[in-house]
Amino acid sequence: MRVVRYQHAGRVGIGVREGTAIIPTRFGDMLDLIRAGPGAVAETHAAPLPLEECRLLAPLPAPSKLLFSGLNYRSHTEENPGAVLPTYPQFFAKLPSAISGPGEAIVLPAPETQVDYEVELAVVIGTTTRGIPREQALDHVFGYTVVNDVSARDVQFRDNQITTGKGFDTFCPMGPQIVLRDELPDPQALHVASYVNGERRQSSSTGEMLFDVPTLIAFVSAHITLYAGDIISTGTPAGVGAFRNPPVYLQPGDVVAVEVDAIGRLANPVLPGW
Ligand code: MG
Repeated sequence: MRVVRYQHAGRVGIGVREGTAIIPTRFGDMLDLIRAGPGAVAETHAAPLPLEECRLLAPLPAPSKLLFSGLNYRSHTEENPGAVLPTYPQFFAKLPSAISGPGEAIVLPAPETQVDYEVELAVVIGTTTRGIPREQALDHVFGYTVVNDVSARDVQFRDNQITTGKGFDTFCPMGPQIVLRDELPDPQALHVASYVNGERRQSSSTGEMLFDVPTLIAFVSAHITLYAGDIISTGTPAGVGAFRNPPVYLQPGDVVAVEVDAIGRLANPVLPGW
């Protein structure tokens, strides 16, 4: 099943997306639904709403944390002249205040800021837990969504502390929906792609990951308590703007779309913030 956070007639709700309809659940907050467990998703009791009358929102606007894996696709490591092939998973924190939804603007802070896109498969944790063995890691997954790990490359590479440059407001588009784990039994067999103004920039498979989803979850949870609704993002393949020749960064008026097979497409316009 696919769950969405939506706005309809001024009200925000959590619903199940089926074709061109959204079936409201009794939940108004995605975190409450996740804590109630996947079985609660089926407890729908209101009349379906036409999808066209609803505005889809970021499915999880306020997780306790977002941990993003850097350098987790071989091709992205190879295109980055400053990177070495990692021998263990590497993570940075993306900030919850950066989250935005489908169709919301990516706001460029200044004309000279080098803003870039990264398509990523994101894992939504289902249960509060710590110390998950790799073999049991997928049992703790609620579902999967898509994120765009928008990055200010000039800030990211200037101080080598990438939380600031990847944490600007609007730099974490998320959605358009969460696909429950049982619908995606193999997270390593999904096509991922990104597009700027319709031109394909990234195209790969999650099978290219250096560290697969269970390994990433086990690695993080060895030392960090994961709460229901936390996001673990899984890195991006080659094709980002910073490593094109010459580099190409996002400009006002661009539209960036990132997509993961079987989950969906997330498109966001780029607007000037000055
Ligand atoms: Mg990334």
